[in-house]
Amino acid sequence: MSLLQQILEIEPKAKLLEPDAHTRQNWLNRVSHYAHQFIDELPANPAYRPAQNLDAYFSISQQAVATDEILQHLQSGMLAQGLNPASGGHLGYIPGGGLYAGALGDYLAAVTNQYAGMYYAGPGAVKMENELIRWLCRMMGYPPTAHGNLTSGGSIANLIALVTAREAFELRSADIPRQVLYFTDQVHHSMHKAVRIAGLAEAQSRCVPMTKNFRMDVQALELQIQRDVHDGYHPFFIVASAGTTDTGAVDPLLEIAELASNHGVWFHVDAAYGGFFKCLSNDPSSKLLAGIEKSDSLAIDPHKGLFLSYGLGSVLVKNTGALYKAHYYKASYMQDTLEAPGEWNPADLSPELTKHFRGLRLYMALQWHGFEPFKAALQEKLWLCRYFYHEVQRIGFTVGPYPDLSVCIYRFERPGCDLAALNKSIVDHVIKKGRVFLSTTNIGGEYWIRLAVLSFRTHLQEINWCLEDLEEGLAWIMRS
Ligand SMILES: *Cc1c(COP(=O)(O)O)cnc(C)c1O
Repeated sequence: MSLLQQILEIEPKAKLLEPDAHTRQNWLNRVSHYAHQFIDELPANPAYRPAQNLDAYFSISQQAVATDEILQHLQSGMLAQGLNPASGGHLGYIPGGGLYAGALGDYLAAVTNQYAGMYYAGPGAVKMENELIRWLCRMMGYPPTAHGNLTSGGSIANLIALVTAREAFELRSADIPRQVLYFTDQVHHSMHKAVRIAGLAEAQSRCVPMTKNFRMDVQALELQIQRDVHDGYHPFFIVASAGTTDTGAVDPLLEIAELASNHGVWFHVDAAYGGFFKCLSNDPSSKLLAGIEKSDSLAIDPHKGLFLSYGLGSVLVKNTGALYKAHYYKASYMQDTLEAPGEWNPADLSPELTKHFRGLRLYMALQWHGFEPFKAALQEKLWLCRYFYHEVQRIGFTVGPYPDLSVCIYRFERPGCDLAALNKSIVDHVIKKGRVFLSTTNIGGEYWIRLAVLSFRTHLQEINWCLEDLEEGLAWIMRS
C-alpha cells in the first residue's frame, strides 16, 4: 500500500476524535444531567463518606466505554467516597467551592483551548487574565504598576513570591546562609516547601513568637531583626499570614509593614485563605486586613475566597519588574512594557509556559453574578463563624480566641481526661454521622477541633447541624 493510501485509510479512524454534533449533544446532555443531579442531591448527601476499596474502579480501558458505564464509575468510585468538597457541610481544613458559573467557564476554556500563556498567541485570553489581575490588585490596594499571575493555587503563588524576592535581592548561593526569613509557627506549610524548592533551605528561618491569639508578636519580630542585623545576618523575607489555616488569625500587617520597610526586608502576605474578606469594608475583619496594601507581594486564592473550583490561586507583586526578572526567558524585548502600555505575558511572570486558561472561570462567574453576591456570601461566612463561636460555648465547649475571620477552634475540656482522645471521639461521631465534616489540629501540643466556614453552600442550616451533631457527640461521650 502506498503512503497516500495508508493516510486515506487511517483518516476516518483518527477522525473519531471529533465526534459529530449529535454525539456531542448527547454527551453534553448526559454530563449535564449528571451534574444537575449531583448539585440537587448535595443537601441530602453526606459531606463525608469513608473510602471503600477502590480496586474495582478506574482500571484504564484501551477500548471505548459506554457513557453509562463511565458515569457510573465516577459516581461510585469517586463521588461516593471520602470528603465531598462541594458540600455545604464541608467545615474542615479550608473548604472549597465549585461555582457552577465557573465550571461553565472551564468548559469553554477547554473547548476553545485559548492559549493564555503569551499575548501574541492569545491576546484576548491574556488581556482578560491581566484585567482580572488588575482587578485583584485594585481590591487589595496595590498600585496600577503592580501585576501578578493566576496560578494553580496558593502554594505556587507563595513560591513565585519567594523566588521573586530572591532574584530582586540578587542572592547567589554564597549569600544564602546569611539571609533570614521570618514567620510564625502558624505559617502555611507551603511556605516551608517554597523555601526548600527555591534553594533557600540553607538560609536562616526564624520562628517569631506569637501573642495569645496566634498573631505574630511584632515586638519579638523587631527584637529578632535587630539581633540578626547585629550578628551580621541579612533580614530578607517576612511572611505575614492574613488568615492562618489553623485559626484564621491575621498577623498585625500594618506594624509588620512598617518594620519591613524600615529594615529593607521583602514583605510577603500569605492571604491565600483570608484576602478576599478585605472587600467587606464595613466588617471589623477589614480593619485587620489593613496594611495588606503595603506588602511587596501577596498570595490570594480565588478557589478559596471566591468559591471557584480548585485550580485558581494568584500572586500579586508590587514591583512587576522584579517578578518579570525572576521568571522571563529570552523575551527581553518585553522589558519595554514596564513603561509602555503593553500587556504582560503570563509566561514571563511564572514558571509555566502553556497553561490552563484559568482566568475564564473567574471572569464568567464574576460577569454572570456581579460582585455583590460574593460579598454577601463572604459576610455571611464571617457571621456564621461568630454565631458558632457563641453557640458552641452554650453547648459546653471551650473556645480559642475570638475568630479574626471565619475559622473557630474549640474543644471539650474535662479535668483529668486525655483531651485529645476525648475530642477525637466527638469528632469521629460527627464525621460518622456525615452531615458535616470537621477537621482537627494540634497547636503547641494542644488538640483543637476546628470549624472553617468558607463554602458558598454553607448557611445557617449547616452550622446548626454541626452544633446539633457536636452536642449529640458530647452526650454520647458523657454516657460512655
Ligand atoms: C490553602 C492555603 C495555602 C495553599 O494554597 P493551595 O491553593 O492549597 O496551594 C497557602 N496558605 C494559606 C494560608 C492557605 O490557606
